[in-house]
Amino acid sequence: MKLSEIGEFEFIRRLAPRFSQNLPKNVEGIGDDCAILPYKDGLSLLVTTDLLNENIHFIRDKINPGDLGYKSLAVNLSDIAAMGGSPLYAFLSLGLPSDLNLEWCEGFLEGFHQLAKQEKVLLLGGDTTRSINDIIINVVIIGEIETTKIKRRSTAKPGDLICCTGYLGSSGAGLKALLDRLPLDNETLPLLREHLRPRPHLEEGRWLASQKSVHAMMDVSDGIDSDIQRIMEQSGCGAIIHLDRLPISQSLLHVAETYGWNVLELAAASGEDYCLLLTVDRDGYEQLNQRYSKQFTTSLFQIGEVTATSSLQYLYHSKPTVLPKSGFDHFKKKLAH
Ligand code: ADP
Ligand code: MG
Repeated sequence: MKLSEIGEFEFIRRLAPRFSQNLPKNVEGIGDDCAILPYKDGLSLLVTTDLLNENIHFIRDKINPGDLGYKSLAVNLSDIAAMGGSPLYAFLSLGLPSDLNLEWCEGFLEGFHQLAKQEKVLLLGGDTTRSINDIIINVVIIGEIETTKIKRRSTAKPGDLICCTGYLGSSGAGLKALLDRLPLDNETLPLLREHLRPRPHLEEGRWLASQKSVHAMMDVSDGIDSDIQRIMEQSGCGAIIHLDRLPISQSLLHVAETYGWNVLELAAASGEDYCLLLTVDRDGYEQLNQRYSKQFTTSLFQIGEVTATSSLQYLYHSKPTVLPKSGFDHFKKKLAH
């Protein structure tokens, strides 16, 4: 049997049990956006890592090195945001072909450093090796959080409302614009920017982590179609997603109309949005959203409900529907990547 037949998530499911037993008290491993380790004075450490492979996660001549450096850190910070934490330290490991231009390396480090400085992340180490052809980038982040505030994927409850903190599909559309060599104009540029320099929702994550009515949280990296299933698995619940309620930026609406793209498919399944996906106690939602709107000058987007079933159901203007393509899986067929 091949990996493509089981997919990325079944692979992780098979890998996890061997390493999830006998963990020390207060240590949580595989299954959430970060591992959790006890720290000091009511604090926990969060640890996360992500790998970016040339021709899988990026195409060298379609992203400038500064953007790639920035993005390599941003996607990792997003996993810290997903739990509600604050990043502290980074480790950066690089596999680089020996004929790589030094200017490229400088640009990459400049982009990485720019975001590290902005978010006060200190680079403490890493590793550098030669690779044959491709650029390989691995980042590890250590963050911290008050233990009582940690938000997990496993704590969604039937009846919760499902919300996200940002527009969906813009990054996937930016990638599509790049690959299709669309002209860069006022409509395509904002999409491209979302793809090249995603903003980790650290402020939002920290604020939401302090709110009791927020039950479960994660970041949107593979598209909500895939990501909501991670919450379902970990929480033992189902979900209804209202496709007509997915938040879509004006730029994406315009570009999709011009080029005849399926905007709902992009919004639900194209991935790399790096906003937060959360479930909220129904009774606390109104008040939470009012306070959130004051804090961030934009509201939460309510896109679905948690159910007591184990299935994911899509509705379009209250009518059952199906999604033509599913979210990103590294070993299965991919959308827009
Ligand atoms: P994310 O997209 O937030 O980085 P994933 O969905 O990729 O998270 O991973 C789910 C969980 O599986 C995480 O807890 C991650 O640490 C774990 N995981 C993924 N790949 C491996 C691996 N090769 N070895 C151990 N744990 C892994
Ligand atoms: Mg994540």
